[in-house]
Amino acid sequence: MKLILKGGNVYRNGTLCPLDIMIENSSIKKIAENIDGNGADEVIDIRGLAVFPGFSDVHVHLREPGFLSKETIKSGTAAAARGGYTNVCSMPNLNPCPDTLEHLKVQLDAIEKDACINVIPYGTITMGEKGDELSEMDAMAPYVAAFSDDGKGVQADGMMEAAMAKAKKLGKLIAAHCEDNSLLFGGYIHDGEYA
Ligand SMILES: [Zn+2]
Repeated sequence: MKLILKGGNVYRNGTLCPLDIMIENSSIKKIAENIDGNGADEVIDIRGLAVFPGFSDVHVHLREPGFLSKETIKSGTAAAARGGYTNVCSMPNLNPCPDTLEHLKVQLDAIEKDACINVIPYGTITMGEKGDELSEMDAMAPYVAAFSDDGKGVQADGMMEAAMAKAKKLGKLIAAHCEDNSLLFGGYIHDGEYA
């Protein structure tokens, strides 16, 4: 199957310029001005549209496993694909949350089964995102984008320091949810000019 997209504004080297794209058997074979449409199975005029490489979003919530009424890996990745995203990193405030390889496996299996784009999960920093004990960072490292207790801030300095040292050793990143619970006072919005 040979497909030619004519005249789209193709993003290259930091700018958009009108070019043709030749796609053969689902891969891009050529990007150039005025590609001859003879012999193509289909030629589509896409003048006025922009063409980008697949986008990546490093902070998405697919809510599976655990909160399927909000979102699933199937619906979330379909929405991402519709918006031009080919890679997403899924946050770990799930049930079970990926704090052990066994718990992470539940999500990896669902990704394998239902995702229509690349999904790289996060592992949690602490067990159950509770802040008391480090997660199985070693075991999960090969399968995760980074570590985060998204939705909850790690409250103890020493715990965060241990997590950062461990992440460095593993060549991984920490994506911190920076929230100090001692400043919450039971809510998020307080009396004042902006309330
Ligand atoms: Zn989040």
